[in-house]
Amino acid sequence: MKRLMEKIEEIFVNEGILSRIFPSYQPRTQQIDLAKKILSAICHEEHLLAEAGTGTGKSFAYLFAAALWALEHDKTVVISTNTLPLQTQLMEKDLPIVEQVLAQMGYDEFRYELAKGRSHYLCKRRLELLVQTTLQTESPHRNLIEKIWINSRDLTYGMREEFPIHIPTEIWEEICGDSDDCFYHHSPFYEHCFIQNARKRWTRAHIIVANHALVFTDLALKGANENGVLPKYDRLIFDEGHRVEEVFSRFFERTISLPEMESLFRTIRLRRLGWMRTVFDEEHLKEIEEYHRQIRQELQPVFEKLAEELSENQTKNGMSTLEPVMELIETPIPFPDGFEKPISDLIEYLQVIAKLNCSEEPEKRGMAQLITRLESIAQHLKFILNCSGGQDWAHWIEKVPPLNAGILDPQAEWVRLIAQPISARTVLSDLFASVPVTFISATMSTGNSFDFIAKRLGLDKYAHFIADSPFDYRNNALLVISETAPDPRDEAAYSAFLVEGLKRVLSLTRGRTLVLFTSYSLLEKVGHQMQEWMDNEKMHLLLHLPNTERDKLIQEFKAAENRVLFGCESFWEGIDIPGDALSCVVLTKLPFANPSDPLVRAKTKVIEKNNGNSFAEFMIPNVILKTKQGVGRLIRTMEDRGAIIIMDSRIIKKSYGKQILASLPPARRGKIKQVPDYVLNKNKS
Ligand code: SF4
Repeated sequence: MKRLMEKIEEIFVNEGILSRIFPSYQPRTQQIDLAKKILSAICHEEHLLAEAGTGTGKSFAYLFAAALWALEHDKTVVISTNTLPLQTQLMEKDLPIVEQVLAQMGYDEFRYELAKGRSHYLCKRRLELLVQTTLQTESPHRNLIEKIWINSRDLTYGMREEFPIHIPTEIWEEICGDSDDCFYHHSPFYEHCFIQNARKRWTRAHIIVANHALVFTDLALKGANENGVLPKYDRLIFDEGHRVEEVFSRFFERTISLPEMESLFRTIRLRRLGWMRTVFDEEHLKEIEEYHRQIRQELQPVFEKLAEELSENQTKNGMSTLEPVMELIETPIPFPDGFEKPISDLIEYLQVIAKLNCSEEPEKRGMAQLITRLESIAQHLKFILNCSGGQDWAHWIEKVPPLNAGILDPQAEWVRLIAQPISARTVLSDLFASVPVTFISATMSTGNSFDFIAKRLGLDKYAHFIADSPFDYRNNALLVISETAPDPRDEAAYSAFLVEGLKRVLSLTRGRTLVLFTSYSLLEKVGHQMQEWMDNEKMHLLLHLPNTERDKLIQEFKAAENRVLFGCESFWEGIDIPGDALSCVVLTKLPFANPSDPLVRAKTKVIEKNNGNSFAEFMIPNVILKTKQGVGRLIRTMEDRGAIIIMDSRIIKKSYGKQILASLPPARRGKIKQVPDYVLNKNKS
């Protein structure tokens, strides 16, 4: 390990290899310390929780630590990200530099690979099938499919992005890899299959870049004693580690809705999966359709009743029945006794067909998977309505109107039943027992402690490390708190205050401002009330509403200085706008988790049941992490300068406010009149 530590120094120090290759590289002690800590955890087989403040250069820190160790010991490290932009940055920008530096150090054999799920790769057999059926029919997509066929010959990795033409999703779904429709070694294309070839490359890689969902897919498959997606690996690093718990819950959720069930029967009716074409004849399809009718007849009343109850509650609470709504299921909901009968009858019927018609391996596997899916309809419905799984699960009903919802749409179709695990402990404990894991992110700690995140992940023993941001917050960032802001729970007074307060701020910044909201409704309301004033002031207001494209909004925001962006949800993190384009960040309400969110309610209830204080143990650590993320949007480079304005006086009036403030970067506290010094007169300190 000592030798590897010396190599880390060689790479990062002043006039080290990075500085020699890239004269603009700025050595940072925080980055060297972080790289060494990660290397130490990797070598000592420790789990590590690490927080790296903005500007630390965390990706190079873990990439060099992981790559050196993997090269020296001929091992594999998986690096998992939550978002696509980070994955792209690692593959296209950072890893080529790591490769270049390592080559200078005499490591010529460094191998890294991007691992994606099956559906990102072309399946040559499914494409051939589509080409054949298209040639036999008058398909409107004939020209496009011919082009796909011709272009597919020039692909290296077989990924959708490699095609020089746009492939609509409905066509891609017919030709991409699908585990339900793969013939594996029975496939005539097996030897040249893009997916199989990718998997061979992954087994030889030192670094595999994946995402959190793929890591969980792999874990779930291996946990069920099946072949995983990823090869055996020796260390795992979760970047954007603060999102692991959320991805975990979504990944292992159980869900059922009428449209999901309909889509399964549509697949059968159209014999979408290759094996179905040889196994099901017209008679079989007719028979299956009859079972489908009976199943729907049993389930529809269950969903209709739930939809009706939700609508009644909405009316009682003064909400429109067209609004999305979620309700926690806390006590079992009765369901009709006989609903399982047509499902089990259909399964029996399919088992008979399987005996008669499924002689080949792909057909047997395909049929087994179809039966498992049908079984899961009954299992999930019972699991959710019975509130099974105890306090480890949250169960709820969600009613989300489709975008084009009209008065005639049957509301039962909008209802989804969902159960999500609320603790990652059971699944992740198996992972922690098998491989040392590092979690890293810019926001992991609360008040210099990792207790909160460790508890949520079920991590009992771990090393930890905080690399402070190298940015000079004290001189480059001003923090202003609106001390007179009314309590945000008084909605009318608060929104009126926001409108006037924002006018004051924006008349000083003249644009270049990101305003973060915690709800779309408040964002929209304040946006509409300010629109006329903004027009008169020659500032351009951009509103982030649920269906607006995030990337497009960011591009528009960066295009001119007079832009003001009102953002919600995803805008609190992951936005990286260095330079003058973003010089002021306004946090409206403190970003407390929504207490009516079923998952939040379920998590807080478990804490209370165990005699804990859910406000102190869950709500406060959460709001600290989210506030840190919001504030972190401002200073992105050593040269950046600007103002942070918090328009929620609870941060100074409530006792928990101190904890939040203590966790924020050390910006200088000041008054609103100082804002122009930080936003307009950038060189003045
Ligand atoms: S092995 Fe599976 S994914 Fe690969 S070409 Fe054959 S059927 Fe498609």
